[in-house]
Amino acid sequence: MSFLNAEEPTVVELITDFGLNILWHPTTGLQIGDQVQDLLKDILAGKVQMDILVYEGSLIKGPNNTGTMNYFADRPMMDWIKELSKVAGYVVAIGDCATWGGIPAVAPNPSESTGLQFHKKNKGGFLGHDYVSKGGLPVINIPGCPAHPDWITQILVAISVGRIGDVLIDEFHRPKTFFTDFVQDGCTNVTNFAQKVDGNFGKRGGCLFYEVGCRGPMTRASCNNILWNRQSSKTRSNHPCLGCTEPGFPHNDLMKGSVFKTMKHLGVFPKEVPTGRTKLAYYMEAGFQKVMPTNKRVTETSK
Ligand code: SF4
Ligand code: SF4
Repeated sequence: MSFLNAEEPTVVELITDFGLNILWHPTTGLQIGDQVQDLLKDILAGKVQMDILVYEGSLIKGPNNTGTMNYFADRPMMDWIKELSKVAGYVVAIGDCATWGGIPAVAPNPSESTGLQFHKKNKGGFLGHDYVSKGGLPVINIPGCPAHPDWITQILVAISVGRIGDVLIDEFHRPKTFFTDFVQDGCTNVTNFAQKVDGNFGKRGGCLFYEVGCRGPMTRASCNNILWNRQSSKTRSNHPCLGCTEPGFPHNDLMKGSVFKTMKHLGVFPKEVPTGRTKLAYYMEAGFQKVMPTNKRVTETSK
């Protein structure tokens, strides 16, 4: 559904300007029932060419690796995906469920859910460690809960114009274009982060790292540069980043008391510190700011 909100480019522009032919989509597809099944069979038989397989949702293997918990077009979805992935030019996984299993894969994982080529941080997933599509690439992961629509459409454009080879991916197969900077880059609360001024839900000003568990400094995503609806983001509306584009999401496996709360040692020191910093260096710097604050008040930039 996020895909339909894309703005640069829009879904219509994908079709009219970039010549994509969307063979089927659960919302816009004209085929229903047996027609969907026939289309999928034609793709597998080579009668219809499918250049890109875009998949959303976790791969449900339960119970007991039969996949019958999730039927689609009269057979387990996982059976369709296994076969379609062999004929697809490229495979793109959209959202946390398809990329690393997402919330359904949280222990005890009763549906035996996993991602297309990762299970949480471990490479492998449903298609296996060494899977590459006919185009020679592994699964391209566009995580997020949901994934930003423009990340999706821009990667589809790169494939459709033959430039996907220029798009570098990181160790978790995320396009570096969108997943190199941190959510904190571009956050309007960043001065308060540096000066250790606490914020809170919906409260203007202050940083959400210290008490309510913002993961902006540990989460690679362009949410504060490619804004949502081209106008805002979670942290700009003073809601903590949940770290939804990282393979550890949902972090702490949704353990009671771990959501919207900064986990701390001794009730004082954050258990997780910004990526790239040692705990010692971070604690020393934060302690110095606490004792010798350069600014005790909320800064103008975050009002
Ligand atoms: S609100 Fe979150 S993203 Fe923004 S400065 Fe604080 S920790 Fe970083
Ligand atoms: S701000 Fe954080 S939780 Fe929100 S969409 Fe971006 S990465 Fe996900």
